[in-house]
Amino acid sequence: MMPHRSMLQPPVPLLLLVTLLAVGCRSPLSGQSAVPRAEPDPRPVVHSGESNPPIVGVPVQHVVVISVDGLGSSFLAKLLKAGMVPSFARLQKEGAWTHNARTNHGTTVTLPNHISMVTGRPALAVEGMAAATNHGYTSNVVPGPMETFHRGGNPELTYLPTLFDVAHDWGLVTGMFASKPKFVLFSRSLDGDSGAQDATGRNDGRAKLDQFVINEDTQKLVGAFVEILARTPPHLSFLHLRDPDTAGHVSGWGGAGYMDAVRRADTQIGMVLEVVTHNPALKGRTAIIVTSDHGGTGQSHGEPGIAEHYTISFHVWGPGIPAGADLYDVAAGSYANPGITRPLPTAAKQPIRNGDVANFALYLLGLPPVPGSSIKGHLDQR
Ligand SMILES: [Zn+2]
Repeated sequence: MMPHRSMLQPPVPLLLLVTLLAVGCRSPLSGQSAVPRAEPDPRPVVHSGESNPPIVGVPVQHVVVISVDGLGSSFLAKLLKAGMVPSFARLQKEGAWTHNARTNHGTTVTLPNHISMVTGRPALAVEGMAAATNHGYTSNVVPGPMETFHRGGNPELTYLPTLFDVAHDWGLVTGMFASKPKFVLFSRSLDGDSGAQDATGRNDGRAKLDQFVINEDTQKLVGAFVEILARTPPHLSFLHLRDPDTAGHVSGWGGAGYMDAVRRADTQIGMVLEVVTHNPALKGRTAIIVTSDHGGTGQSHGEPGIAEHYTISFHVWGPGIPAGADLYDVAAGSYANPGITRPLPTAAKQPIRNGDVANFALYLLGLPPVPGSSIKGHLDQR
């Protein structure tokens, strides 16, 4: 069985409460048995709608996470002002968002921040934090052939559970679609050899990603992704778009090439929005989260103390999410807008971080948080 919302800590956020009351306050997925998977492995990807009729009033059955690599929010704000990024404009008009989210406190490079996104853990240890809190994976290069983030991370931990572990163990279909070769780290860390035993209910196997695609050509990657989304959508999918980062390294953050790359990412997000808006299986039941691993200045982004490196945007769009809302307004009980500061992961009130992705995606799906995670990932009651 699926977890009931009441099992989740902390309680249902206000903005979802209205929707949930309409369906008797049950989990979006409660009453559904786990998504059927043909045995034995490898299982085909099964669309939930084929065997589980949609539950009337269910707000979120699919979550698409999109990480735009290297998207600093000041550059995005400029393009929005100029009316050049219509998909982001739509996400802001119809969803909740902020241009003042944060990366990790101590690192503004790609892999450590993406591992925070999937684990809900800060990358680095700081004073006053329990030793087994941070994920500890600091390398940002293509991993060696045997490397996993379990082995290469915090030595206090033998395994780093992710949002894919939780969703998969609960019987949901998962996928990751990435545009840099080093993202092989995710598939390798979560494959049938390195993934943990299923922790919940029926045994869905150790491989936590049902689909994993790497293509450095983002046009082809997104083309393949939207096709999968239209035909056999995973319940939880993660799309990584590299172009702004690549252009920033070549011609500088904020330069013409960079701005073009952000506009290209906007068009690609538009392709996802298009499918999610018009496909009957997805329409009205799909949430989209868009954030970034870091920003940048000049031709780099590796200085975690520079505001343009650590200041990113965070967008949430979908059923139950208030339209045009400041994310800090709808999350005021849990988070505090950090202004121009860079709070430590031990600060009492946290900024919204890219690391909120993991638990926020699970929360929207009605699933419990990632075991051992410390970044809460939910919108609290006001
Ligand atoms: Zn980079």
